[in-house]
Amino acid sequence: MEDNRLLSVEDLSTFFVGGERPVKAVQNVTFGIGRGEAFGLVGESGCGKTMTALSIMRLVPIPGRIMNGRIIFEHRNLMDLSQQEMQQVRGGRIGMIFQEPLTSLNPVLRIGDQISETLITHRGVTARQARETSVELLGKVGLDHPDKRYFQYPHQLSGGQRQRVLIAIAVSCNPSMIIADEPTTALDVTIEDQILRLLESLIAHSDMSLLFITHNLHIIKRIANRVGVMYTGRMVEQSAVEGFFREPLHPYSRGLLDSIPEFTSGTKRLNAIPGSVPRLSELPSGCSFHPRCPHVMDRCRSEEPMMTEAKEERWVRCFLYQN
Ligand code: SF4
Repeated sequence: MEDNRLLSVEDLSTFFVGGERPVKAVQNVTFGIGRGEAFGLVGESGCGKTMTALSIMRLVPIPGRIMNGRIIFEHRNLMDLSQQEMQQVRGGRIGMIFQEPLTSLNPVLRIGDQISETLITHRGVTARQARETSVELLGKVGLDHPDKRYFQYPHQLSGGQRQRVLIAIAVSCNPSMIIADEPTTALDVTIEDQILRLLESLIAHSDMSLLFITHNLHIIKRIANRVGVMYTGRMVEQSAVEGFFREPLHPYSRGLLDSIPEFTSGTKRLNAIPGSVPRLSELPSGCSFHPRCPHVMDRCRSEEPMMTEAKEERWVRCFLYQN
């Protein structure tokens, strides 16, 4: 894996400062993604998934700050790059797809021009070449009459079609990685299936890697090779997908799976995790999951568990797996 690694996030911490106490949105997060690998980042809302992605892209909104960590991508630490160099990475080497395409697309620009602009900025092609490639891309992502679509504005397309345009922009410069943050959440299940199929086929026909962020475990099972579970800004479990769905280790992971019919055996009752995710500004002491955990022990209330390798290539942050 090490030789094949495209991205290594090491000990990443991103805090929001300025208030009475810093809000620790991402804390000491470490993970890697190999070339051609799809890594799923999962957890409830407010667990730090999106902020982890924004930190990788160095797009953390003010007053957020990356406090610590290294982000090694294609053998360079992105933390050392100038803003200008980062602009080349964003959209050029890393494509991005977000949840709501209407806010990601410019409403007053024709969609073809938006793809062309990315191509001209990152690949230095002529306007004519950019237009030809844009039409090709619109066809590749499954839009009918791509030569006519080129001249349409975002509001003339459906939500699924707009998401296809965003995917066309994301892959236009042959990036080595795509970051997709809840790209199908706003779509109905049929369109979601089509968009996932499109992403699967784009990944299968290239050696592009994927960082897929979602709260939906069905999608993780379908699309990811490995999974990372986040809770209150921390990574609490990391594993290959098969092992994770067969035997989730962290009590939070087990709780997530036990609340979904497809992942519980026929005789087992569905159990929602009690309580809700605490506010990042008011985290409980010790293990932040302890108020919701069915296995809580005394030490969990005062000590914080470390990430440890509980089984081969399976990492978990929980005292149940530590001496
Ligand atoms: Fe539960 Fe304790 Fe493990 Fe936290 S460390 S998940 S409270 S058993």
